[in-house]
Amino acid sequence: MVSHKWKVDRTVLDLGDGVVIGDGNLSMMAGPCSIESEEQIDKVVEALKANGVRIMRGGVYKPRTSPYSFRGLGMVGLKMFYKACNKNGIKIITEIMESSQIEDMLPYVDIFQVGARNAQNFNLLEALGEIDKPVLLKRGISGTIDELLYSAEYVFKNGNEKIILCERGIRTFESAYRNTLDLNAVPILKEKSHLPVVVDPSHGIGLRQHVAQMALAGAVVGADGLLVEIHETPEKAATDGQQTLDFKEFERLMTKLNQLKEII
Ligand code: PEP
Ligand code: MN
Repeated sequence: MVSHKWKVDRTVLDLGDGVVIGDGNLSMMAGPCSIESEEQIDKVVEALKANGVRIMRGGVYKPRTSPYSFRGLGMVGLKMFYKACNKNGIKIITEIMESSQIEDMLPYVDIFQVGARNAQNFNLLEALGEIDKPVLLKRGISGTIDELLYSAEYVFKNGNEKIILCERGIRTFESAYRNTLDLNAVPILKEKSHLPVVVDPSHGIGLRQHVAQMALAGAVVGADGLLVEIHETPEKAATDGQQTLDFKEFERLMTKLNQLKEII
């Protein structure tokens, strides 16, 4: 079970090549909301390498509110993503939307992300329980902490114990920002469960000018990692540009996170 009562030691995930999540260090996962082109991927890879970041995010299957919006490059995009990351020692986290995609995606993915909209897609969760790769579970759009833990249980009970929990903001009455990043969830999840907890400040607040500050806050409250959207030119990003950091902003955030390491 995912409960701390069942397992006292914290779960540590070893992705290979020296990339570890949950070992007490802050694991950075950064990249564009959507994979757009080879050129875009190469630029992000360079920015990650310059900052010592070993995990790149990027969606190839995008859950969009409108079916007419850009919905991702699919497997073509994932293969481009893999090619660039594999030769640079960078691990890939990308969203999966349905269980029928597992077989095709498996060779190219290091961490399967289950998005907020699929947080209670129990068939998908059970199917991901059958594989031997880490799964990052985002909290549902209006999901409670216990619902997130039960979602994790669907994966865990089928044998896959490599699970990461992700706080990405919830829908509340507040409309001044995209979502309400519930940082309370971090200590509570870590108290209730032995699984690593990651904070996504990008979707959590949805406003580029405040993302770095909320990322720092996530680190302060004990997150095991951060999932951050970055792009060379956020204003031109295919999706979520309004909450995406450019490379300079990302570098500044990394500098501050490194300074923070000394005091938390
Ligand atoms: C994303 O990570 O780009 C995404 C769609 O996230 P969420 O599921 O949290 O909305
Ligand atoms: Mn996004």
